[in-house]
Order: sequence, then structure tokens, then C-alpha cells
Amino acid sequence: MTEADGIVGEFLALAEEADADVLTMQVGDFYEFFDDHAERVAEELDLTVSQKSSHGSSFPMAGVPVAELTPYLRALVERGYRVAVAEQYETEDGHAREIDRIVTPGTLLATPDERSRYLGAIVDGEECGIALADVTTGRFHVTSAEDPATAIGELSRFDPVEVLPGPDLRGEDGALERIRAETDGRATLFDTEAFAPGRAKARLREQFGDGALDSVGLTSAATIQAAGAVLAYVEASGQGVLASITRIEPYGASEHVDLDATTQRNLELTDTMDGESTGTVLATLDHTVTAAGRRCLREWLCRPRQDRAELERRQDGVSALANAAMAREAISDELDGTYDLARLASLAVSGTADPRDLDAVRETLRVLDPLAEICERHAIDDSPIARLLDAGDSETVATLRAELDRALVSDPPGTITEGGIIARGYDESLDAIVADHEAALEWIETLPEREQERTGITHLSVDRNTTDGYYIQVGNSEASDVPDDYRQIKSLKNSERFTTDALDEREREILRLEEQRHERERELFEAVREQVAAASEVLQSVGRALAEIDCLASLATHAVRNDWVRPELVDGSERGDGSESGGRSEGSDGDGESGDDLSIDAGRHPVVEQTTEFVPNDCRLGADRRMLIVTGPNMSGKSTYMRQTALIVLLAQIGSFVPADAARVPLVDGIYTRVGALDELAEGRSTFMVEMQELARILHAASADSLVILDEVGRGTATYDGISIAWAATEYLHNETRAKTLFATHYHELTGLGDRLPGVANVHVAAEERDGSVTFLRQVREGATSRSYGVHVADLAGVPDPVVDRSRDVLEKLRAEKAVEVRGGGSSDTTQAVFDLSSGTFGGSASADGGREPDRIADRFGADAERVLEALESVDVDSTPPVELLAQVQAWQERIDGE
Ligand code: ADP
Repeated sequence: MTEADGIVGEFLALAEEADADVLTMQVGDFYEFFDDHAERVAEELDLTVSQKSSHGSSFPMAGVPVAELTPYLRALVERGYRVAVAEQYETEDGHAREIDRIVTPGTLLATPDERSRYLGAIVDGEECGIALADVTTGRFHVTSAEDPATAIGELSRFDPVEVLPGPDLRGEDGALERIRAETDGRATLFDTEAFAPGRAKARLREQFGDGALDSVGLTSAATIQAAGAVLAYVEASGQGVLASITRIEPYGASEHVDLDATTQRNLELTDTMDGESTGTVLATLDHTVTAAGRRCLREWLCRPRQDRAELERRQDGVSALANAAMAREAISDELDGTYDLARLASLAVSGTADPRDLDAVRETLRVLDPLAEICERHAIDDSPIARLLDAGDSETVATLRAELDRALVSDPPGTITEGGIIARGYDESLDAIVADHEAALEWIETLPEREQERTGITHLSVDRNTTDGYYIQVGNSEASDVPDDYRQIKSLKNSERFTTDALDEREREILRLEEQRHERERELFEAVREQVAAASEVLQSVGRALAEIDCLASLATHAVRNDWVRPELVDGSERGDGSESGGRSEGSDGDGESGDDLSIDAGRHPVVEQTTEFVPNDCRLGADRRMLIVTGPNMSGKSTYMRQTALIVLLAQIGSFVPADAARVPLVDGIYTRVGALDELAEGRSTFMVEMQELARILHAASADSLVILDEVGRGTATYDGISIAWAATEYLHNETRAKTLFATHYHELTGLGDRLPGVANVHVAAEERDGSVTFLRQVREGATSRSYGVHVADLAGVPDPVVDRSRDVLEKLRAEKAVEVRGGGSSDTTQAVFDLSSGTFGGSASADGGREPDRIADRFGADAERVLEALESVDVDSTPPVELLAQVQAWQERIDGE
């Protein structure tokens, strides 16, 4: 068998054993893929495939240079693959290869951006357990949820890149499909034994110490199982990054504001409805200068809090920085150019940090003192900013800094094998090697001078290259004058190259010293890297503190530039408070100064205000006014008004200032939205089923402390169906759920509820009609809209004038319950029909002289007329766009004409 046969054979054997989608195997200076692995990779990554023959057959082959593996690995893993990496090891008789790590989406260390990369596990037991680890930053969150659906929802909020479903969630009940659908991540069916309770518990003890579970109060069996499985999986990936997970962070379900994926998307927090990242709330708010700060801002935004003390701490921080422009700028200047300490700690732990990474740690720790000075100088030293700076264990930080300062040269290289990393004075043995090395180099450097003197040759130089090593070069004219101890090694066109015994000896010495020096530097570097790894917990804390400061400074900057104000936070109403009974009038509730009133003066939409001359609007919601029915023409600003209200509440609950003149925000336990059925229906993104599923979830999940935004309900079905559902949902939200609700609807009938239900009020977005065209005022006013603007929109859209005029005429008559004559082409006869708006039924038809005479109609127009009348009867005039109405009228006329 040739070597080539051996390699393909070896690859296929390893591939067989690897629990991965793709294997790559080191062969000398390349990582190779063979067979269908090569084809898969080539297709995904645009690599060239060649053929490798083995045993008379030929195998596809693709390869990447060793130094370039990382980006290819990352690209494969980003596409959801598990990739096994087999390294080549030197052995006594040649080399051997074995798989030493498996890189998966949830364990990938070389990340392309600052975003978190969560690996989640979910276990169904008495309750559901969830664990989420980000190996790139060492974060490790655990929590529990009542049932799998809630748990999957919670999991999806972290946008995990990989999920490990527990053994009970892989069955026929569709849980696995839901996990796949609701999280974009890869679902990996990991070894069920890793989920076993005993093993999981032991794994957690090993990681965090014996008392850790008690000290953080982690008792849920399912959560322990999930957490243990995540740790086991990280370990099994073989990347040595397990130790970066230094802390377990349990959180309670009630800590955060419930914010499902639909709502995140509807509010365009991190992605727009079209999937763009510009024009989002995050992009608008983001003035951070560090990757970690950006990650922190994203986390805050996607996981708003209910904890008033924590939020007020953040507000204090924003406030301090908003009021101290100089300090804010100075802080941002210091932070700019610092590095992501949590990420660097993970690299150190996994042994992949290079000298530049450790230099980055040093440079970043260096800003702590200047930051503290800034706080002192600008008298914000009793603000949360200053307290954050004290968060890390300062002694460990100081020791580590001193060590890095002593150990590393300034501006070290990116590789660890070529020396030039460790500073002089750090290690005696290295210094001795360096001294000898430099002496030897000095000897070489001064050699030409000495040789010129000794030999009298003027054109003499000393140089080095890879093939000849060190040599003495003499010009041809003097080549015959060289002394006897010169040995010629090469003849060039204009010169000759020589060496001497003494030079050979020096060369050997230099090579030996170089090797010693590189080896010693590598050893020392690895020891320093281990010290950094050992301090990873502190680095994570300091990194977190710097990220928060960056984030607070960013919020302050945005607040100042856009005139945002600090909202007053009040605790939400007590849930299940029995003092109010559903039936009685709430107008006289309590003392009138209801604790959970939401009140926004001149509120704005944080994103829309950036690009538009924005018209601010107030919003007030409370126990006696917990639901607003929002009406107004299309495009008048209903969605914007509702979204800005939701966003102001959300921003308040991340600790940010808000776009308003003043705001008082009762802390909510969840923000639920259902938006835009019609737009989505049109684009095939939604179905009536989806709309109803979303409504169902809201009606189940929302409480009296929630904020609910409904932008049209029931449009995806026939009018009577739709209006009935909207009606019943309104009553339910008002009577049972009692959530604060904003409900935009085109069903004018619902505005009637505003007069009848005590907690419901009508508001409308005003538009003004002048000279037959509509001006949107963008002002939200009390009361319902008086009329529909469909015809005006038809006008604006360029529908021909005769049609628009006729629509107005029809509309007016219908509204007044007057007869509408059906105009027939060519005939001067008219038939009149009356549509009863209050009953929604066809109330009668009349000839020009009045009175309903069906027989005569049938006589005059034939049998089809009956069907036309039936169709006319079932039309819902209020909800059918006038243009469509006209088209129908035309169709009817044609039918009658056809007789
Ligand atoms: P609707 O939901 O009533 O159809 P939208 O809320 O989608 O209307 O708003 C329509 C347009 O009006 C959007 O382009 C939006 O930017 C703009 N708009 C909405 N509210 C305001 C406002 N208060 N000030 C300025 N422009 C606004």
C-alpha cells in the first residue's frame, strides 16, 4: 500500500469513529477532507476538489493550509455542522493521527462577532430545566419553567446556536420539532447518560465546588440535569474550554419581562421585520465603543428586568453620565481600544490565546486606574459607575497586571513559536540564553570588519539565507585573495561565497541558542497564559463591569443627544389583588391615585423620531382606563403610537431613559404583541391560524401587570368571524386578564365598547380633510374616529375621479341608510337597495317609487337578480374597501345586464 492509500484509508476509519458531520484530518501542512466530506465542504465553502487515487479507485479530496483552518471551521460550524478535527502527532516511528476535538455551533471559540453564542440544554421532568452556556464568554445561566412550551420559549430568548434536548424531549410529541422551529440553533441529540441526575449533579459539583448548588439555591432536578449535560457536552468537545465557566447564574422566571420572539420581532429590537440590523432599536441606541458593551446592550434589550432596585441602579448610572459630558467622553475614550476580557479569558483557558491576546488583556486592565481617576475628577465617584470599577478582585487584577507587564515585551507577535515574546529581566535562564545569543549575533555582525582587516579584502560581506546558512561573500576581483581557511560553498556571477570553521561553529551555536530561546519563551508564555486562565473569573467580572459602563455611557449619550428623560418607575399592581371585583365600576377605584398608572407625556418612537419630524403623543393607562381602542385611517400612525408605548415601557425596564417629556412606568411582567395580520398575510408570512395562535398565547400568558399590543385581530377571516373574535378578546382582556392593552382595529363596532366597558376608552389618530384630500396630523386624541378614510386613501392612491366620487356618494347613502341605486350600463332604469347598517343585513330594496317588489324585480331582471341581491345582502360595507365594493357593484351590473 502506498502512503496515499494509507491516508485515505486512515481518514475513512477516523470518519467512521467520529461522531460528527464532517471530519478534517491533518496531513503535514494541510488539513484534508476526503470522499463525501470533501464534496460537502467544497460545496459549502467553495473549495476546489481534486482526485486522490487509492487502491485503484479515486476519491474526492479538498484541503486547507494548517494556518487557515480556523475560518473554514467557523464557516462550517456557522452553517450548523459538527466538525471533527484529527491532528497529526509525531511518534517514534513517523506520525499518528487522532481526533482531538469536535467543534460544534455551541462550542465554537473562534467567533466572528461580539454576539453571545449560547449552547442550551432543556430537560422535561417534574418541571422543565434549562441551562445555557456561552463558552466564548464563560456565562452560564440556569432556570426552570412550568412546561416544555414555556421552557422552549425561554430558551429561544437567548437565541441559542445549539440545543441539547433531554431524553424526554425527543419523542413523538413534537417537542423536538418545536425546539428546532423556535430556536434557529442546531438540535444535537447528546448522550442520554449525560442527563442522568446523579451524573449531572456530580459534574456540577466538580465544576463549581461541593457547596455551590446549595449556595445558589439550585434544587430543581430537571435544571441540574440540564446544567450537567451542558457541562458534559462542553467537555466532550475536547477544546479545553470548560474551565472558562466559572460561575453558575440561576435566575427566576419572574426576574425578566416576558418578551417572546414574536414581540421582539414586532418591536424590531435587534432585527427589522425584513431581517435587517439597521433601523432597529438596538442600532439606534448603540453608541458603545467595545464589543462587550455592545453584547451587554443587546442582552439588556432582549431581556428587560422587573427588578426596580437594579433598574434604578442603572438609571443612576445613566443619570450620572448624562450630567457629566466631560466624564462621559473621557470614559468612552478610555474604553475605546480596550478588548473583550471575557472572550480573552476563554481563549486563555482553552490554551489558544496567543501573545497578542495576552497583550490585549494587559492593555485592557490598564484602563482601570484612569477610569477611576475620571470618576474622581468629575465627582461621579459615588455613582454606580465607580462602584462597577470596584467589582473585580482588585488584588488579583493588580498581580496579574504586574505579571503581564513584567513578562511581555511591548507589542508582542501573534505566534508563540518564534520568540520575541518575553521581556528581558523576567526570567534568568532566558536572559542567559538571550545574552549568549546576542553575543553570537554580535560576533557575526562585526565579522566583516575583522575579516577585512585580517585579509585586506575590501569587497567582503557576511550574510545568511536558508539554503547556505551564514556565509562570507567576496567579489570576483578579490576572490583569489582569500586566505586558506576559507572554504568555497557557492559561485555566483559576480562573487564567491565562503565559510570558515569558526563561522560554522558560530552558526551552530546561534541555531542552538535560537531554538533554546524560542523553547524557553514558549514555556514561559504558556505559564503566563495559565496565570491568566487561572484569573478568568476575575477577568470576566472586570470585563462585565467595563461592558456595563460602556453600555451605560451609550444610553447616556443617546439620552442627551435626543432629549430623553429618566422615567419614574413604580411597582406594578399586586397580581391577584382581590380588592377589585370584575363587575363593579372602576371609575372610583382606590383613592384615584392608582399606583400602577402608566403615564407618558409627549412620547415618541425611538427609531421613527430619528428620521422624521415626529409628532409626540401622550399615553395614559390605568385601572380605570386599562384598554385603549385605537382607531384612525390607514397610515395615520396607529402602529407607531402603540409600538412607541411598548418601547417606552421596555426601555424603562432596561434602565434606559425614554423618548418623552416625562414618563411614569409601572413595571410590567410581560409585553405581548400581535401585529399586522394583513401585511403579513399578504407576504405569506402569516396565516389566520398563526394569528389565532398568537392571540391564544397572549390571552393565556398576560396578567394584570402585562402590556398587550394588538394591531388588528381577526382580519384573516370573514368579517363576522373576525369581529366576533375581536369583540370577545376585548371583553376577556378587559374583564378577566385586566392587562394594560392598546388595541388598534378597523372594526368601528368595537369603539362602541369604549362607551359601555368602564376600563375601555377610545382614542383615535387624527387626520384632517381639506379640499377632498387627507392630511395626517399624527395626533392621538380622545374618542373614536368619526368616519372611515378608505375612500380618501383610494383617492390618494390615484383611483380615477369618477370612481372616487361615486364611492363617496355610495358611502354617504349607505351611512345614512339611504337607498343606493344600482346603475346599469345603457339602461336608464335604476334599482335601489337599502343596506341596514345596524343589523348588518340587507334591509330592503326599492324601485324609484319605493316599496319592495321582488316579483317585479325577478320579472324585469331574470333569476340572476336574486343571486345578485343575495350577494349584496352578504356584503359588509364597513369592512370592504370602497374600490372592491365598486368592483363588486360593477360585477353585479354586468350580471344583470347579461340577462
Ligand atoms: P397605521 O398603523 O395607522 O397604518 P403607521 O403607524 O404605520 O400607521 O404610520 C404610518 C406612517 O406615519 C409611518 O411611516 C410613520 O413613520 C409615520 N408616523 C406615524 N406616527 C407618526 C408621528 N407621531 N409623527 C411623525 N410620523 C409618524
